[in-house]
Amino acid sequence: MARSFIGSKAFKGRGAISNPAVRFEATHREQTHDGWYEDEIVEHLSETVLPDSARSVITTNDSPDVGFEQSINPYRGCSHGCVYCFARPTHAYLGLSPGLDFETKLFYKADAVKILETELAKPRYVCKPIALGINTDGYQLLARCRHPVTIVTKSALVLRDTDLLADLARDGLVQVMLSITSLSNDIKRTLEPRAASPEARLRVIRQLHEAGIPVGVLVAPVIPAITDHELEDILAAAREAGAGSAGYVLLRLPHEVKILFREWLAEHYPDRAKHVMSLINQARGGKDYDATFGRRMSGTGAYAELLQSRFELARRKCGFDSAHGHGQDRHGQDRHELATSLFRPPARNQAQLTLDF
Ligand code: SF4
Repeated sequence: MARSFIGSKAFKGRGAISNPAVRFEATHREQTHDGWYEDEIVEHLSETVLPDSARSVITTNDSPDVGFEQSINPYRGCSHGCVYCFARPTHAYLGLSPGLDFETKLFYKADAVKILETELAKPRYVCKPIALGINTDGYQLLARCRHPVTIVTKSALVLRDTDLLADLARDGLVQVMLSITSLSNDIKRTLEPRAASPEARLRVIRQLHEAGIPVGVLVAPVIPAITDHELEDILAAAREAGAGSAGYVLLRLPHEVKILFREWLAEHYPDRAKHVMSLINQARGGKDYDATFGRRMSGTGAYAELLQSRFELARRKCGFDSAHGHGQDRHGQDRHELATSLFRPPARNQAQLTLDF
């Protein structure tokens, strides 16, 4: 059942303004008030974290636009609450809204590492880098199996696993990308309310680099007329901190994210909301979003081409290049080639045992 909240006031520490209708549901419920009982309006939303009984953890994809074919995400929902998050629409599969529900109703796969161990032990499993948002246990298993890993994060918590990542890095088995959207704390506060500050993300780049872990920066998403002017500065700051590779992604607005983003613009940037959407529409063939492979990461048209040229120029000027074994994909992200030949599958009978780390 879809829900929306009274008024347009942003919730403290939340990115979404509302809970828009779930796209699969036929009914829509709207909350209204008649001016009485003002104190009943919800201003603070707490979080719940519940177990999710998933039977597999490795997800495969055949998109030519992303730098990996398989990924693991042991959570559903994310309390970082980035308003533009393109994982939001997946909450609709749980019958929950991609809006505030996505930030506050979280699920974790309790046995993720055990299930992963079983999947890696399958005789037909073919080792390819796994993109993941996982925690210490997962890194330990993958390090033990010498399995390549790529990580994209906005969290400083990745530093907690520096030792494990440095161990993987010694064999060319890991690449970490820090996603930096803006260097402004004011923008970050409403756009990605619970993610690490820009300074903290630069510090993460510095510390990972100093630990010998290949680290890059992903300027993602670039938001026209809100953050796009920062592209060169973000690349320069990340390079100075030690980033060796760089990429960018133009804002993507699939499904309900377009509603959430429009609400966010109306709340925080009413003066330029129309202009922002006009630039997005120009770059998306007249629509809010175009999911076509090859176009969805960087868009098309004059604005998108200008962004691409600026990125390429800044990238070269900063000294990010294709040396040191990096390839480059079509939206400018350097791809670090990771080793797959060192993979040692977990023993099949061991896969049923709980890790003894
Ligand atoms: S940190 Fe990533 S997964 Fe979490 S809300 Fe932001 S974009 Fe989505």
